[in-house]
Amino acid sequence: MSITENITRLRASLPAGVTLVAVSKFHPVEALQEAYDAGQRVFGESRAQELTAKQKVLPGDIKWHFIGPLQSNKVKDIAPFIHTIHSIDSLKLLQEVNKQAAKHERTVNVLLEIHVAQEEAKHGFSPDECRELLRGLAPDALPHIRISGLMGMATNTDDTTLIQQEFHTLHTLFTELRDSVFKGNSHFRELSMGMSHDYPIAIREGSTMIRVGTSIFGEREY
Ligand SMILES: *Cc1c(COP(=O)(O)O)cnc(C)c1O
Repeated sequence: MSITENITRLRASLPAGVTLVAVSKFHPVEALQEAYDAGQRVFGESRAQELTAKQKVLPGDIKWHFIGPLQSNKVKDIAPFIHTIHSIDSLKLLQEVNKQAAKHERTVNVLLEIHVAQEEAKHGFSPDECRELLRGLAPDALPHIRISGLMGMATNTDDTTLIQQEFHTLHTLFTELRDSVFKGNSHFRELSMGMSHDYPIAIREGSTMIRVGTSIFGEREY
C-alpha cells in the first residue's frame, strides 16, 4: 500500500482528540511530501541534523516534533522552528530549550519523557524524579517553554498485558499531575504514547498523541 493509503486509513481509524505524529526519520523528503499531500501536517524526527535538512525544503506549515534523544548542544539548531520536543529527560535540557527558544522569541512545547519500560536503554525520568523536578520548578522560571504533557515508550515485547500496564502507569501519572501541579493549566494536556505495533493499546489507555512511522512509511533503511 502507498503512503497516501496508509495515512488515510490510519487517520480515519483514530478517535477524535488523538493527534497523529507521522514519524519520518530515515525516510526521504519525497515520502514526507506524499504524506503532506495526503493532509498530514505533524511530523516527528529523531536526529537534529536530519530534521533541519528536511525542514529547509518542506512546506512551512508543518509542525515538527522532535522525538529522539536530544543532546543539549543540538537544541540551538532546532530552536528556530521546532513545535514540540517529546524527549525532555533532564532539567538541564529543559533550561537549554528555554534559553535557545528565548533567543528566537519563541515558546516551545515540551513533553517530559517518563521511563516505564523494562529496558534500561530507554531514557526518561522515573515517576518520582518527574514529581520532584516539577516540585522544584517555579511557575515562571522557564517562560519560553510550555510543559504540554508526558511522553513514554512501553517495553518492546509481544506481551500485550505488560504493554498495557506500562501505558496505564503513564496515564495514571499524567492525570495525577494534571489534577495537582498543573491544575488550572490548560496547556498540560498531551500524553504521547503508542507506536506502530502498540498504538491501539495506547489509545485504549488514554493516549492523546501517537508516534507512528513504520505503519505509514514502511520499514526504515539504516
Ligand atoms: C522511531 C520512533 C517511533 C516510531 O516507531 P514505529 O515503530 O516506526 O512506528 C516512535 N517513537 C519514537 C521515540 C521513535 O524513536
